Amino acid sequence: ASGGPAREVRTTCPYCGVGCGVVATVTADGGVSVRGDAEHPANRGRLCSKGSALADTLVPGEAGGRLLHPEIGGRRVSWDTALAEVATRFSDTIAKHGPDSVAFYVSGQLLTEDYYVANKLMKGFIGAANIDTNSRLCMASSVAGHKRGLGADAVPGTYADFETAKLVVLVGSNLAWCHPVLNQRLLAAKAEHGTRIVVVDPRRTASVDGADTHLALQAGTDSVLFNGLLVHLHAQGHMDAAFVADHAAGLDEALAAARADAPDIATVARRCKLSEAEVAAFYAEVATTERVVTVYSQGVNQSSQGTDTVNAILNTHFLTGRIGRPGMGPFSVTGQPNAMGGREVGGLANQLAAHMGFTSDEVDRVRRFWNAPRVADKPGLKAVDLFRAIEAGTVKAVWIMATNPAVSMPDAGRVRRALARCETVVVSDCIHDTDTGRLAHIRLPAAGWSEKDGTVTNSDRTVSRQRAFRAFEGEARPDWWILTQVARRMGFGDAFGYESPADVFREHAALSAFENGGTRAFDIGALAGIGHAEFETLAPFPWPWRAGGQPEARLFTEKRFFTGDGRARFVPVTTTPMPRALADGALLLNSGRLRDQWHTMTRTGLAPRLSAHAPEPCLDLHPADAAARGLSEGGLARIVTVAGEALARVHVTDAQGLGTAFLPMHWTDRFTEACVIGRLVDDEAVDPHSGQPDLKRMPATIHPY
Ligand code: SF4
Repeated sequence: ASGGPAREVRTTCPYCGVGCGVVATVTADGGVSVRGDAEHPANRGRLCSKGSALADTLVPGEAGGRLLHPEIGGRRVSWDTALAEVATRFSDTIAKHGPDSVAFYVSGQLLTEDYYVANKLMKGFIGAANIDTNSRLCMASSVAGHKRGLGADAVPGTYADFETAKLVVLVGSNLAWCHPVLNQRLLAAKAEHGTRIVVVDPRRTASVDGADTHLALQAGTDSVLFNGLLVHLHAQGHMDAAFVADHAAGLDEALAAARADAPDIATVARRCKLSEAEVAAFYAEVATTERVVTVYSQGVNQSSQGTDTVNAILNTHFLTGRIGRPGMGPFSVTGQPNAMGGREVGGLANQLAAHMGFTSDEVDRVRRFWNAPRVADKPGLKAVDLFRAIEAGTVKAVWIMATNPAVSMPDAGRVRRALARCETVVVSDCIHDTDTGRLAHIRLPAAGWSEKDGTVTNSDRTVSRQRAFRAFEGEARPDWWILTQVARRMGFGDAFGYESPADVFREHAALSAFENGGTRAFDIGALAGIGHAEFETLAPFPWPWRAGGQPEARLFTEKRFFTGDGRARFVPVTTTPMPRALADGALLLNSGRLRDQWHTMTRTGLAPRLSAHAPEPCLDLHPADAAARGLSEGGLARIVTVAGEALARVHVTDAQGLGTAFLPMHWTDRFTEACVIGRLVDDEAVDPHSGQPDLKRMPATIHPY
């Protein structure tokens, strides 16, 4: 449509952690079209199917499912009434039961400025650390693994490394569907100069189509494979002795653990259910290729030993000194658009702010910077424990922002029961009818993509602006504004004087550099004095960007890590048994994304062309497993676990490993009450270091319906 001069606004895609730049063109009559931003370093003009359909999802008002006005008890109220009610309920609960009786559960969908204000209110002014995020389900194990190995939660390299590597190993990552533009860049590099690609995944995913090798290992044995690789590289003389001697520590302990776990290729092959030839060929390829990038994602993270698996991968890069140089390094790809930004400001319950923890020095530093009355001095409840505390009644008021835990948390049935009995449930969301919103006492309409303004950080530490180009729907407001208004009504107005996202970003940047002596990984002190106009035009940049310095796209070029002595840490890893017993006849149920949907489909579900790819949830089964259960293509299956039941149509495919099944994660009660994956996975198996639930190995019995 036309009708006047069009304007173009540079913004960022709100879906996955690739963080593609988008140019939105808005005509005078309000029509919107999008294209990839050729100047954005993440995508250089590319978009995937979801990003290309963004304009289709901008359905105004109730037709778009939007929550348009504040509500209390299902009745429309004014903003002033709703904000006062939230402030009063939280203040009263804190007065009666103490600061630990309240909690925030937030989201990698929030912008960094939203996250910053939420974290400051909870950890600095309420005085508890009970703010956790759905990134706990996504990234927490990589965070914990990076801290142990690198001394900081810092992805070493840049997306350009995918293109300069000679070998890219995808571990538990369906890059083709979950990070499609990165996959496009990788395949373009392969076409140009023959990059080799190895996929390590129990499923034959779409990523295998572009790969040279698929290692279809047994679920949960990635740490065996990488422990064996460490042993092999060492035994065959591929150690970078100078790097290990001068820049790393702990090799002997890590090697001893690896030798006990995976002493030789025959053992690795047996435990991983691969052939010896497959393992030997993989090890030989890694050994003889200098430029190796090892990419890992949810198949690694969403496990009760995700953190250890991350460290098993890091160990192999330390041994060979393949880190801090072009085309090599470990590389975690994040699920959500701003999982990284949330971590920067302390959105996880076990971080304080600006990547600081809870040492007395850090608590004191943050207290003085915020001039805060009662900074939390110990970690708060991680997601699974947080909802259990709500169930137990020790957390009595919770504010959930931009996420749908009644679907996405493991044991979603338990989460629903917990929320149903909670004294105060506040939900801020763009969407009116969400599974979690149905359980809320107070609903606050949040601004959505195209309306909100701020920053996000993608998987390679690039901070990008998300910019507004449409008016707020109804009475929707940005999350940072809602939080600021509540903080003021709780009596904290002096510290919450923000009038714009630029105000928040400026303070966030200043805190990142406050008394850190240039030694912390996350530091964007160069932007501590950024003005409104400069914030408006801020171009994408990678952190750190220290005062007086330049943005640093690559870390560890000087082989100095963020540990006390500057050395990388090898971590001993021992593979643990499966966390749940597998009864006779049961299959291991896996879950994950589809190519064209996002999370619980509140946005992508509005674009018919996206639904065409997979109109309903299907249970993928290996032909032999289907036949053994009397199931065939298109039939209906009943899926039963200790946590719950579901129904789904069967898709028989030999891409699915024998003894396993796969169900997509997107469908909710809004679409079908029959097939909610969160109801099928229990919350008993959790990584001891990261608190991330094991979501991909749930024993399930499958029957014809
Ligand atoms: Fe958006 Fe991710 Fe697709 Fe890029 S790859 S357009 S960030 S969904």
